[in-house]
Amino acid sequence: MKTSPDVATTETAKHDYEPVIGLEVHVELKTKSKMFCSCRNEFGAEPNTAVCPTCLGMPGSLPVINRVAVEYLCKAGFALGCDVAPYSKFDRKNYFYPDMPKNYQISQYDMPLTTGGGVTLSSGKRIRLNRIHLEEDTGKNLHAGGAMAGSDYTLIDYNRAGVPLMEIVSEPDISSSDEAEDYLAELKAVLSYIGVSDVKMHEGSLRCDANVSIRPRGANELGTKTEVKNMNSFRSVGRAIKHEIARQAERLAAGDRIVQETRGWDEVKGTTYSMRSKEEAHDYRYFPEPDLVPLALDADVLARWRSELPELPDARRKRFAQQYGLSEYDAQVLTAERSDADFYEATAAACDDPKQAANWLMGDVRRALQSAGFTALAQSPMTAAQLGELIRLVKSGAITGKAGKEVCDILVAKGGDPNAIVAERGLGAVTDSTEIAAMVDQAITANQKSVDAYKGGKANAFDFIVGQVMKVSRGKANVEIVRALIKERLG
Ligand code: ADP
Ligand code: ZN
Ligand code: MG
Repeated sequence: MKTSPDVATTETAKHDYEPVIGLEVHVELKTKSKMFCSCRNEFGAEPNTAVCPTCLGMPGSLPVINRVAVEYLCKAGFALGCDVAPYSKFDRKNYFYPDMPKNYQISQYDMPLTTGGGVTLSSGKRIRLNRIHLEEDTGKNLHAGGAMAGSDYTLIDYNRAGVPLMEIVSEPDISSSDEAEDYLAELKAVLSYIGVSDVKMHEGSLRCDANVSIRPRGANELGTKTEVKNMNSFRSVGRAIKHEIARQAERLAAGDRIVQETRGWDEVKGTTYSMRSKEEAHDYRYFPEPDLVPLALDADVLARWRSELPELPDARRKRFAQQYGLSEYDAQVLTAERSDADFYEATAAACDDPKQAANWLMGDVRRALQSAGFTALAQSPMTAAQLGELIRLVKSGAITGKAGKEVCDILVAKGGDPNAIVAERGLGAVTDSTEIAAMVDQAITANQKSVDAYKGGKANAFDFIVGQVMKVSRGKANVEIVRALIKERLG
């Protein structure tokens, strides 16, 4: 009997297969100069102003290894639990591409700087790394129709040619698009903590190729993989993987075979498309780079680099939860960026209340950042000392919670001394009992119905009267005193 390839069969097919994913992540290192020459390594500079005979591939020019790039890669390796090789070498990877003037890329083939290691997902699952190697970036093609709509030529910017690049290759341990996105987020957090890269996907300092295959659930052998390129956000990586899994499942359900190939991701259509058949290592005619000596690293230098690592996100997250009594979620959010985590700890110290510091940063401060048009805490001129002082003012009852929000908005947008802002705007709380008593009496007289309701057992009538007093005080009465006085009056 023939079954039609309807939705039901496709769905069944999907459930019968298990996705297998391995990611290759390229990360540009934030060194001052390029990998093999002294040209500036700077994003967004005027095209072709950071070039020299070496990175333009002129005959007779010679490469020199950038010591800081090696240091950064080793630090990434240590942070990710890799084995850092005391002895490694560079190789030529030969291929022609217009944005690569030498017609070969200096990379590492069979002796990478690190092997092993891994990335721990938020679920606790460990994704093993195969290797991290050091290489150089290519230049950048600027095609007609994109940045130069209407033109029919391509310009090349060689500023990026020769920028230090590390390639982080995972084992095929990732099982879903969600895990892939989580892997990238964890990797990004670690790399930005140790300060070796900007890790900005939208600026190309982090790029990701996804190797995707599916296999019958429980099978031992891996299926044929495709490699998907051109995603420019973590979300796109997730979408591309999801689409690729579904496409492969459909092909297999239809009785086709998966062709091993490189596929592009079309962000607008939300589909992958065939780019080229897969190249093999032997296509590149790798051979040891004759212009560079192998790299031999002293044990004491390696030990020093390892000792210079800061506390890493995972350790900091665990410490935050324990030391400050934060939930796992709060600790996760507050440690995602190193500068945010530093800000949090300084605020907690300034107000001597870690819980309140977390509440403010994750609530009112976050909301104020949004309305001020900031995308990160670091963009705000507010200091941790200022926020800490604001939290103290609210806690002591010197200003009401409502006034606190108003001061918070101003601090986040412009910074300043919270006490001065309170004085300037007359936001100080009314704490004088006689003054408040007068307001309470006024509210009681004006709301006799609610008073009767409260006396008749309606608890929420009490809150209504509190609200009326606050209204009379224009939000400035100390609410504890208001409640106490109403209770006193109504018995
Ligand atoms: P290639 O020789 O095609 O470059 P590698 O073995 O070097 O393949 O692996 C490249 C990446 O692809 C690695 O991240 C690896 O984990 C992943 N990978 C390898 N085989 C598969 C597979 N069958 N399915 C999914 N990913 C795979
Ligand atoms: Zn150069
Ligand atoms: Mg490979």
